[in-house]
Amino acid sequence: MTVVVLLGVPGAGKGTQARVLAERLGVPHVATGDLFRAAVRDGSPVGLEARRYMERGQLVPDVITIRMLLDRLAQDDAADGVILDGFPRNRAQAETLDEALAARGSRVDLAVSIEVPPEELVRRLSGRWVCQDSGHVYNETTNPPREPGRCDLDGSVLVQRDDDKAETIRARLDLQLASLRDVMAYYRATGGLRQVDGVASIDDVTAAILAALADDTVGLADRW
Ligand SMILES: [Zn+2]
Repeated sequence: MTVVVLLGVPGAGKGTQARVLAERLGVPHVATGDLFRAAVRDGSPVGLEARRYMERGQLVPDVITIRMLLDRLAQDDAADGVILDGFPRNRAQAETLDEALAARGSRVDLAVSIEVPPEELVRRLSGRWVCQDSGHVYNETTNPPREPGRCDLDGSVLVQRDDDKAETIRARLDLQLASLRDVMAYYRATGGLRQVDGVASIDDVTAAILAALADDTVGLADRW
């Protein structure tokens, strides 16, 4: 089984690439958020345990997340491999994941980091405006209103949530990038890190990731 970890902060296009790659390679895209929801919905023992933490507003401990991941990897559709999205988020999780995989004779074969300069990330994430009356959503770059500051549909004033303001996003990004760099350093040390330019088009980023997989003669490279 080939385990590929996709790394990138929100806005880097990681989720999009994970979906495209899963389709191209015929292996599941395993996003930790989906794992939590599925485990809770199915009422599995580990899901019930995770729910206890979530209900208290606490982070689900890494050991529980890893158990969910391992359960997922044991399913038939993951026999050839898996694209992990959203885990590990820090060095401790990366180490725990490696230990858990090693116990099953497996490992992370490749970690691919999708690189986007911080200012481009801020630009991608901060252009969100919402109409005050009805919540219609606009984006300065991808879906701008015809008249700045006015909703096309009802003429209402467009406002920006604090969460969507550039300075808030920049502060959050600094924290996320610090964790990400730590995870990257871990995989660089194990020799499994590849970096691709995330500013290119979606197709070009996909091609770069597939090339990285092929370069490393990772098992999945035989599949396209
Ligand atoms: Zn509106």
